[in-house]
Amino acid sequence: MPAVAEVMSTVACNPSPRGCDLPTCPVCADSMVAAEGSAYLSENVISYLWTCDTCGYGFVTKHAVSKRFVCN
Ligand SMILES: [Zn+2]
Repeated sequence: MPAVAEVMSTVACNPSPRGCDLPTCPVCADSMVAAEGSAYLSENVISYLWTCDTCGYGFVTKHAVSKRFVCN
């Protein structure tokens, strides 16, 4: 069944990149499912590497990580 009709919100309402903040491919607009990898750019900025399964385009997104994300 087609799964491309998801409504993409630009509002980050979940600290997880796998939550509601998934990007779309800038080339073919396909929805990204899971990041290929991640890296911290600084103490509270994390970048995710995405590769499009449809066209193979790779790109990086950056996310601010709240200190409150860590709780133990
Ligand atoms: Zn693509």
